Amino acid sequence: MSLFSDPSLFLYFAIVLGLAVGSFLNVVIHRLPKMMEQQWRSECAELDGKEAPAGERYNLVMPRSRCPSCAQPITALQNIPVISYLVLGGKCAGCKARISPRYPFVEMLSGALAGYAAWRFGPTLAGLGAIVFVWAMIALTFIDLDTFYLPDDITLPLLWAGLLFNLGNAHVDLQSAVIGAAAGYLALWSVFWLFKLATGKEGMGYGDFKLLAAIGAWLGWQMLPLVILLSSLVGAVIGIGLMIFARHGRETPIPFGPYLAIAGVIALFHGQVINRQYLNLL
Ligand SMILES: [Zn+2]
Repeated sequence: MSLFSDPSLFLYFAIVLGLAVGSFLNVVIHRLPKMMEQQWRSECAELDGKEAPAGERYNLVMPRSRCPSCAQPITALQNIPVISYLVLGGKCAGCKARISPRYPFVEMLSGALAGYAAWRFGPTLAGLGAIVFVWAMIALTFIDLDTFYLPDDITLPLLWAGLLFNLGNAHVDLQSAVIGAAAGYLALWSVFWLFKLATGKEGMGYGDFKLLAAIGAWLGWQMLPLVILLSSLVGAVIGIGLMIFARHGRETPIPFGPYLAIAGVIALFHGQVINRQYLNLL
């Protein structure tokens, strides 16, 4: 019996793989912004004709993960998604420093969304694509929350991956995907410039345009109005919530990427049903 002949086997496989990949997403979320900064520094040094600052080799694999407080390396046994966190009681085994609950949360989110994608689309090209898509959305959401950046290293490959998957009609036909990529970029680019000309402020960044372009490449241009509508709605709900419960000032900047990512995931799973009902209302 192959993995792809039994839907429930595929579902369990997706959840377990999702938990493990969630652990890797934590590394990406933590390290990719630091790797980008290191690269900018060495490029600036090069531009100034100086020697690039020599540092420890730092990428997604090296050095091994260690506790930020006591620098004790994290063993494989302490690196089991969610379970290790629970066994350790949310504390470092060496120095008992608190480990952020965000790590197991990202792992669970990654496992749950991958499982949902496997259940929703089954062992198909659409199912595999949806799993890749939700993992990218998780990484982008947390990197944007931390740094206000949506790295090209994720948004651009995600866009190409969307076009490639839809070459096989994974979620939409190729024509809808190509138009979706271009229209997604242009839609936010226009909003950005209108807003900037009108108010002199910048409400978004170029990373947001690339993210909506990637979402358009995966879900097709037909899904873009819904994604923009949903992201504004999610943004309004979270923004008001933060103002009430966290006493966020109206002027505290909130990145737009997470709203787009959440809207993209909702549209991926339920966009067609929402669009149909929406059209029925009209
Ligand atoms: Zn420690």
